[in-house]
This record gives sequence, C-alpha cells and structure tokens, in this order.
Amino acid sequence: MASDDLLWCDQLVKFYETSTGRVQAVRGIDLEFAVGTTAAIVGPSGSGKSSLLRMLAGLDRPTAGTVMVDGVDLWRLSERARARARADMITHIYQRPNDNLFGHLSAEMQLARVAKSSGSVDAWLHALGLEAQRTLRPAQMSGGERQRLAFARAAVAEHRLMIADEPTAQLDSANASAVLDAIDVLAGRGITAIIATHDRRVLDRVGEVVELRDGAVSTITTGGARLSVIDRSGRLQLPPELRERFPHGRARLRWTSESEHIEIERP
Ligand code: ADP
Ligand code: MG
Repeated sequence: MASDDLLWCDQLVKFYETSTGRVQAVRGIDLEFAVGTTAAIVGPSGSGKSSLLRMLAGLDRPTAGTVMVDGVDLWRLSERARARARADMITHIYQRPNDNLFGHLSAEMQLARVAKSSGSVDAWLHALGLEAQRTLRPAQMSGGERQRLAFARAAVAEHRLMIADEPTAQLDSANASAVLDAIDVLAGRGITAIIATHDRRVLDRVGEVVELRDGAVSTITTGGARLSVIDRSGRLQLPPELRERFPHGRARLRWTSESEHIEIERP
C-alpha cells in the first residue's frame, strides 16, 4: 500500500452459499486507489461489481481478504466501530435509487440530514437540477430525479470515499453530465470516487477503469494504457479472444532472463 492510497484491498474474496450451491462472486481482488482518484469498475452483469463495492464500503463482509480505508482495516473493526467509520468516511450509493432514500422525507430534508454544511444542500440541489423537486418526496419524483437525489445525498455528506453502483443508469445525457460534473468537483476536493458502471459517458470522464471478469480483475486502464493484471497469486487473465486459443487450458511460457518479452504458447 502506497502512503497516498485512500482505499486498498488485498485478496478480497466473496462466496455466497445458495440453495443451488456456492457462487464465487469475487475471487481474489487486489486494488489500490490514491486519494482523489476517480475509477470506474466495469464488467458484464454478474462479474462481481456490486459484491466488490459492498465489501469496499464496509456493508457486506468478505469471505476472505482485507479492505483498508484511510489506514483503517474495515473488516477487523467491531460492528459498531465499522458503522462509525462508515458514517465518518464512506458513502455508498445503491444501484436502486429507493434504497438510498427515505420515503417520508422531502428532497431537501433527505440532504439536510446528512449534509456537512447547510449551504451545500442548496448548492447540490442546484447543481443536479433538483430545485423544483425540493419539497417533493421520492414517490412524487421520476426515476431519474430519485437517482440524482441519491447522488446529491452522497455529495453533501462530503465523505472521503464515495462508492456508487451504476449512478447514471436511469439518466439522459444532460442529467448524466450533471452527475459526472459533480464527480469532477468532488475529486477536485480530494474525494475518491469508485463507480460501477456500464455507461460509456462515465468511462470517458474517470481517471482509471478497472475491468472485472468472473470475479477477478482482468485489466486496468490508466493514463490511456490498458494493462492486464497479474494478481498477487501470479494469475493473469487472457482476453476472451485469446483464451479461446487455449481450449485445453494449458500453456507453455517461454522467456529469457534478459528479455522483457514473454511468450505464451499452446503446447
Ligand atoms: P454485478 O454487479 O457485476 O452484476 P454481482 O456482484 O451482483 O455482479 O453478482 C456476482 C455474482 O454473485 C452473480 O452470479 C450473482 O448472481 C451472485 N450474487 C450476488 N449477490 C448475491 C447474493 N446476495 N446471494 C447469492 N448470490 C449473489
Ligand atoms: Mg451490480
């Protein structure tokens, strides 16, 4: 872990026991994010994005592995201490807007409850185009309005770490831009944002893209370079089009000690 990492996880694993057997949702993920990073987590449906985010946010206990947020080992804390750590530093936005909102409160009251400063409520209602909805309750709002309100709620809290599960899924491009602009503003204030998404508009705006496949990280793109990931156990995922060339799942590696070049050969 580098000293400027805000969020770091090591060998993170999540299995679910279901009536039809064990589901291996996350199979050993190592990641690190510096303070102020904006990162997108992408991957097909079922690749483990939401499971990963819930563990990073301190909401769902890993089967194994470590999550460190600002030097705090989240899953070694007591239940109470973890709740306090979450309340101090982490916002998690669920994929379904209603899961983030109180049904009986107006938009403005939802924000006032968690706002760090009172001025920020008006500022974020304005920034996210929700001034006309100020006095409405979630049931009186459209899906997109609720999604922006859920985001506004996270923004006013000004926690150091914001984790958002598909926050633009229900937004048209103008409203998605408002959310993306908001993420830039938050990143400028040193807030680290980790966003699961399928949305290309998000990918163009974040600093890093982490691609999951079958519960493991396959590539990380940063500074325009898309790199395959070799995890701490030495595992490397081939892209699907290359994987097809190894129907028996065996490969011979060839390299020389001087060369940076390694060959993966079908035996
Ligand atoms: P994504 O967000 O990328 O769609 P998820 O983390 O939701 O991926 O799911 C990863 C895998 O874990 C899927 O096979 C999903 O069906 C399974 N899964 C997720 N949550 C649960 C749960 N609470 N109980 C059982 N299986 C789950
Ligand atoms: Mg999901």
